[in-house]
Amino acid sequence: MKNEQREIQLFTPTFAVEECLEEIRDCLEKGWTGLGYKTVRFEEQWKAYTGLEHAYFLNSATAGLNLAVEILKEGYGWQDGDEVITTPLTFISTNHAIPLAGLKAVFADIDDTNCLSPASVEERITERTRAVIYVGMGGNTGHYEEIVEICRNHNILLILDAAHMAGTRLHGEIPGKEAEVVIYSYQAVKNLPTADSGMICFKRQDFDEIARKKGWLGINKDTYSRTVNAGNYKWKYDVEYIGQKLHGNSIIASIALVQLRYLDRDNAYRRQLAAWYREEFEKYPELVELIHVPKECSSSCHLFQILVANRDEMILALNSAGIYPGVHYTDNTMYRMYAYAQGTCPRATWVSDHVISLPMHMRLTYDDVRYICDQVIKIAKEQDE
Ligand SMILES: *Cc1c(COP(=O)(O)O)cnc(C)c1O
Repeated sequence: MKNEQREIQLFTPTFAVEECLEEIRDCLEKGWTGLGYKTVRFEEQWKAYTGLEHAYFLNSATAGLNLAVEILKEGYGWQDGDEVITTPLTFISTNHAIPLAGLKAVFADIDDTNCLSPASVEERITERTRAVIYVGMGGNTGHYEEIVEICRNHNILLILDAAHMAGTRLHGEIPGKEAEVVIYSYQAVKNLPTADSGMICFKRQDFDEIARKKGWLGINKDTYSRTVNAGNYKWKYDVEYIGQKLHGNSIIASIALVQLRYLDRDNAYRRQLAAWYREEFEKYPELVELIHVPKECSSSCHLFQILVANRDEMILALNSAGIYPGVHYTDNTMYRMYAYAQGTCPRATWVSDHVISLPMHMRLTYDDVRYICDQVIKIAKEQDE
């Protein structure tokens, strides 16, 4: 029996529909739906918004992670089997990028922020460590600044998987300038939702240029446009890499352009929702454990996660009350491909069994949050008996 007939989903993306259609209409009327035009416009606006130097619009963040690791490996001459330290608590595309480039994923543990623990990262550094991939879980920066320091001290590169971090600020600034490369996701349920797309933001201009070639089959048009009369021989180009087709298009960029207008407004509301959740759960520390967000972090609040004793039973009970939470994530070392690292990250394994992501989206009201909190507490009390 469902209480009050509610149906509260984990994510319900909200779009400025008329504005999106207007931007898309421009593309259709102009006859330009592909690469260029709105993709360039969105890259410019994203650079202005984040303050990052370069931005290349892609068809997903997964494409960006794969490109990032591959380009850094080639650019710095890393060898097959060199190591990248990463987190077990993430979406699997973070970690697939490492073996896809012939490198070894070395898992470090997380801390009370659900992000990588600086102490654990430091422990895992060896002579073969080349980079750390840091995931800002749910928009939380965690102990990012300490990770930046560790990377600097050990001469290791930092890759920031900012898939959850669109709009996150640290000391009032968008983090990422310290990293070698930052990757964002604009997948359907992320804070800046499109349908599927992402952005790769390299610090180095030469890497940005390589990414643009590799993301379009390795094609380089510039060599001919520089050497031959502009306008002539437009069909001529060289192919410099065995590339793939990874770039974004103007239809999706149209949606992104509109959604960017509302990102800060939306994130402010997400923070309000998170504050309401926290206010309620702080009354029951014995039943619900909250995730630590450092005070200098203004999170994008992509997720609102809690830790509970009987997670699986709690989710089923919440479903019966019309609430549909999620789990972010299963400890990646539980998957066959990464099972070699099982047992090396006890905190991540524990969190993986106890974490719940509660509904977090623009259509939730104060009343919804209170209802969800009441249900969580009620179920937790019953389980406790
Ligand atoms: C969503 C997500 C990705 C992948 O993003 P896509 O745009 O769907 O490829 C990578 N890392 C994390 C942490 C994510 O949540």
